[in-house]
Amino acid sequence: MVTSQKFREVMGNFATGITVVTTRGGDGQTYGLTVNSFTSVSLEPILVLVCFDNRLSSLQHFKDSGKFGVSVLSDKQEDISRIFARKDSERPASLYFDGPAGQPLIKNCLAYLECETVAAYPGGDHQIFLGKVISGDVLDDKTGPVLYFRGKYQRLS
Ligand SMILES: Cc1cc2nc3c(=O)[nH]c(=O)nc-3n(C[C@H](O)[C@H](O)[C@H](O)COP(=O)(O)OP(=O)(O)OC[C@H]3O[C@@H](n4cnc5c(N)ncnc54)[C@H](O)[C@@H]3O)c2cc1C
Repeated sequence: MVTSQKFREVMGNFATGITVVTTRGGDGQTYGLTVNSFTSVSLEPILVLVCFDNRLSSLQHFKDSGKFGVSVLSDKQEDISRIFARKDSERPASLYFDGPAGQPLIKNCLAYLECETVAAYPGGDHQIFLGKVISGDVLDDKTGPVLYFRGKYQRLS
């Protein structure tokens, strides 16, 4: 039997990059959160997934908009990760730019994708959003990523 504490401890050894996943709600507002459950799923068609906590206050906005953006954070953007992992943090409009498909994305990120949500599956206390990739690009291939490992932010060097 693995306790949730042991599970978290084990999974903490699996180093991940960090993304901010965003959407524009029907009210015109931008919603976003720090996400490390981002995974490449399929090449034909090109699909990715992200997992959202069922209690996320913006979950309905992600469902309703049917689209989301994924911004891969650089090692200079630990502060951005902290901002988007905190409830009620200030998120000025100057943090964002609009991607070619109209999704809000994080300025100065390493790379981004814009996706259409093609399915949302129940996954325990999370929802698994499957996204068909409709646009994407690398914006900075000189800077390294910010990593998350054993509950701490890390860099490659
Ligand atoms: C490195 C890192 C990676 C992360 N990856 C993911 C990820 O892959 N998927 C993901 O969903 N989150 C992830 N998070 C957490 C997520 O970023 C934050 O929970 C989110 O940014 C906060 O969203 P919000 O500001 O809109 O707050 P809200 O949506 O208002 O609330 C945020 C969180 O508060 C907690 N909460 C809300 N209501 C209750 C309640 N009634 N009882 C107890 N707790 C409650 C939940 O955890 C909820 O997700 C990650 C955080 C970090 C630091």
